[in-house]
Amino acid sequence: MAKQGIKRRGQQQVEDVNGSSRPADLDVLQSLVTEMLLALGEKPGRNGLLKTPERVAKALAFMTQGYHRDIDHLLNGALFPIEYDEMVIVKDIDFFSMCEHHLLPFYGKVHVGYLPNKKVVGLSKIPRIVDTFARRLQVQERFTVQIAETLKTKLNAHGVGVVVEARHLCMMMRGVEKQNTIAVTSSMLGAFRSQPQTRLEFLKLIRRGSVGDSD
Ligand SMILES: [Zn+2]
Repeated sequence: MAKQGIKRRGQQQVEDVNGSSRPADLDVLQSLVTEMLLALGEKPGRNGLLKTPERVAKALAFMTQGYHRDIDHLLNGALFPIEYDEMVIVKDIDFFSMCEHHLLPFYGKVHVGYLPNKKVVGLSKIPRIVDTFARRLQVQERFTVQIAETLKTKLNAHGVGVVVEARHLCMMMRGVEKQNTIAVTSSMLGAFRSQPQTRLEFLKLIRRGSVGDSD
C-alpha cells in the first residue's frame, strides 16, 4: 500500500514542470534505503553503513530539490527591459541530474542562447533555471525541452536554443558500457527553429573555444 502511494506521488511530481511544494519525506526514504541494503544482501547494522540511510536520504532530497523550486519566484526581479536585440548566449553550464530509468547520474554541459524581445534575464539566473530542472528525476530530452520552453515563455523571447551534452552513468557502468559516449540533445524554438542562419550562428558560437583558450 505504502509503495503504491510513493510511486503515484513520484510520477505526479515528474510530470509537473512547476514542481511541488511538498518536501521529500526523509523518514520514509531512510527506511527504504535500509530495506534496499537488506535486499542487496548487506548488513545495515555494520559500522560503515550505520549512517548510510540517513546520508542517502539527504543526498536524494538535495538532488531532487528542483521539484520545489518555483521559476517565477526565481526570476522575480531579474527581468530587465532593454533595447538589445542580438543573441545572448550562456554556454558550458555544468549540470548534474539523475536518469529516471535507473536513478543513476547523468551530467555534462548545457548551452543556452536566446533572442531577446524587449527584455533580458539576469545572466546568473540561467544556470539556476538549469539546476531547477536538473535536480529532478529526468530524461535528457525532456530536460532540454523544459529549459528551452521555460525561457521562451518567461522572456517572451523571439527564439531560444538549448543544446545539452551529457554522459550517462547508466550507459557507462552497466548496459552497453560505453565510457566515452556523449549524448547530445537540442531544442530550437521560434527564430532558432525557423531561421537557419540564427540556428547556425548559435551553434557556431557555442562551439568556439572558451575565453582564455588559445584557439
Ligand atoms: Zn538510465
